[in-house]
Amino acid sequence: MKIRYTVVIFIICLTFALTGCYIRPGLYDSTGISETSATEVTTPPQLPHGSADSCEGIVAVVSIYVSTPSYSWDFTDPADKQTISQTLGFLKLATSWIETEASSWNKFVDFKCDWTVNPGLYYEAKMSDDILVNSDMQGIQEVWKYIAGNIAPIDEIKSEFGANSVVYMLFVNTPSNFNRNSSTIVCEEGFAYPYEFCRIYCNGIDGEENPASYAHEILHTFGAPDLYKADDFGNNCGTTEELVEYVQENLPNEIMYVTYDYQTGLPYYDHISNELTEITAYYIGWTDKSEVAEEFGMDLSKH
Ligand SMILES: [Zn+2]
Repeated sequence: MKIRYTVVIFIICLTFALTGCYIRPGLYDSTGISETSATEVTTPPQLPHGSADSCEGIVAVVSIYVSTPSYSWDFTDPADKQTISQTLGFLKLATSWIETEASSWNKFVDFKCDWTVNPGLYYEAKMSDDILVNSDMQGIQEVWKYIAGNIAPIDEIKSEFGANSVVYMLFVNTPSNFNRNSSTIVCEEGFAYPYEFCRIYCNGIDGEENPASYAHEILHTFGAPDLYKADDFGNNCGTTEELVEYVQENLPNEIMYVTYDYQTGLPYYDHISNELTEITAYYIGWTDKSEVAEEFGMDLSKH
């Protein structure tokens, strides 16, 4: 039972408030760079937990297929169509898995993500290559401004689906030599925009992004911290090296620790073999207590 440590290096995700990524309200008050007709012209709402609140009730998932100058989608190309179809399959698998996990905590969550059923959840967008740099604030703002200018307001989406939360998924058509990791932007009150989005790089040096990674990224939007790294920037719920060691020893299959099979080091594409343990359940609002979080002096859950 040897754990592939390389695995955890490949799933680095960023939650922001990294230095310089905390935007004061009012600093960016433009309504956005819309290429199509803008649907939102007022200031975006201030939401204490961003667009994704606790992981309960109905969650609307908006999929945005983003073309950049370096990596574009050809929506008529059979290979690209196949990749897009796979992203939807993986998204459905990831969200179904979270729904099943919720039931074991006596919680109910229902993700509305199938844009073949609800075409209003599907967008095609053009953005600059800035959005390919995970820590680049300009790229993050570009995504926020796109959402503000082109996608129905959060309240409208919530009322259409009876949803409590909205998660935005960006899919980038990266090739197999792409060497960056998918990442997630988490918002809090005080940010210029509330839009929490997962940036999925569809392919990369570790292969095609797998359903467990989708679930991992989505769980971030609800407040789950990474469990494979210490909190160096004050944005990861106060994880420590000791906590990481504990997880490695005792919770080696935790989805916020590893997104591959923890024994073989291989990614799965037809199911998720990882576990969602009490520590993640606590941070996404499914339980009021985590003994592990308490033992290692981690931050309180925001739920
Ligand atoms: Zn992560």
